[in-house]
Amino acid sequence: MADTNIMTIPGQVDPVPVARDITPREDGRVDLMGLPRDRIRALLEDAGLDARQAKLRAKQLFHWIYHRGATDFDAMTDISKTMRPWMAERFVIGRPNVVEAQHSSDGTRKWLLQTDDGHDFEMVFIPDADRGTLCVSSQVGCTLNCTFCHTGTMRLVRNLTPGEIVGQVMLARDALGEWPRGVMDGLDDAEDAGHYTADGRLLTNIVLMGMGEPLYNFDHVRNAMNLVMDGDGLALSKRRITLSTSGVVPMMERCGEEIGVNLAVSLHAVTKPVRDEIVPLNRKYGIEELLQACADYPGASNARRITFEYVMLKGVNDSDDDARELVRLLKQFDLPAKVNLIPFNPWPGSAYECSTPERIRAFSNIVFEGGISAPVRTPRGRDIDAACGQLKTAAQKKSRAERDREALALPS
Ligand code: SAH
Ligand code: SF4
Repeated sequence: MADTNIMTIPGQVDPVPVARDITPREDGRVDLMGLPRDRIRALLEDAGLDARQAKLRAKQLFHWIYHRGATDFDAMTDISKTMRPWMAERFVIGRPNVVEAQHSSDGTRKWLLQTDDGHDFEMVFIPDADRGTLCVSSQVGCTLNCTFCHTGTMRLVRNLTPGEIVGQVMLARDALGEWPRGVMDGLDDAEDAGHYTADGRLLTNIVLMGMGEPLYNFDHVRNAMNLVMDGDGLALSKRRITLSTSGVVPMMERCGEEIGVNLAVSLHAVTKPVRDEIVPLNRKYGIEELLQACADYPGASNARRITFEYVMLKGVNDSDDDARELVRLLKQFDLPAKVNLIPFNPWPGSAYECSTPERIRAFSNIVFEGGISAPVRTPRGRDIDAACGQLKTAAQKKSRAERDREALALPS
């Protein structure tokens, strides 16, 4: 189907690559969520519309789906009343199914979601004074087994489809009540007029830092982000999207060229033995090779620096020497860099402790004195296991009945 390549994924398990980009539904209707204009047009032609009609309708559908957030064909006022049921018989505009939603005391929200074929994954929304960041998952599970990461203890179940990836953004917009209403498209009823909310959005940024390694699901992540960035779609700037990779060197250039978003790299250690241990992918793509790929990343500049993520693990990677070596390496490769120091977030059974606040401050100061910004990230949503590295489908811990009860109490 479509343009999905089967990519071999290294790791300690042999995943079954998923070559499909639409998850089949039991009722046989096709979910349009995640499809670009030309795919929608082809589906309309297959269903019997002539080429001219199909092109026009695809353009209208695209606008309604991605710009207006419509999920019901009946809401599409510029599509004829007879055409709308014809569409509804054949297609749906889906969202990931919500299994459970949680609210942290610090305002962070976490959703446990489910694909149409029954796989659980998670998404997190982190509100701040000046921005709202949605942390999106790219895979169910992960192949990479980083030792400090909860997701890494799950096996890879499968890649998410473009619809399941962009569907997270759509769902967040639904939950935040952020679809533009009102004065567009000649809709001028009094109630809607003046409520067009394209500016001042709560959801301003997207980070691909949820479950999974986005560069091992490259095609689907790229196609989903293209919908998010499309001017007639969700229309989010590439400057507000950050993709985090554990260091899949061969895909980094394509990431810059074909997606063009900001890059974050999970460095976490500056010596081979330590990085080999905590980020096992390092055995395949070493530190120098990774930093060279960062230096070559298309679009990186002092105005658009690469973020290096560094999880603070007590007694493992947090010494003064580590900090000095970090500065040396970033300078050696002349990288336009900033460093994010992430206090380790514990999870049940994790083998590490977080460095002390004093140690983290000392580490940060050394990096700052080396001329590189190194803020310490405040952990968010720890009380609901929504912080970095804590995502693992906690649904496993709850009974189906408990989850159903909670799901019913959710705002949609
Ligand atoms: N797979 C990608 C993106 C998802 S992880 C990657 O590894 O970059 C998002 C960030 O959270 C990564 O930097 C990851 O290393 C970090 N992380 C994972 N587990 C963590 C934990 N327990 N505490 C703090 N950060 C963690
Ligand atoms: Fe996978 Fe990223 Fe977790 Fe490593 S840190 S196991 S790459 S999700």
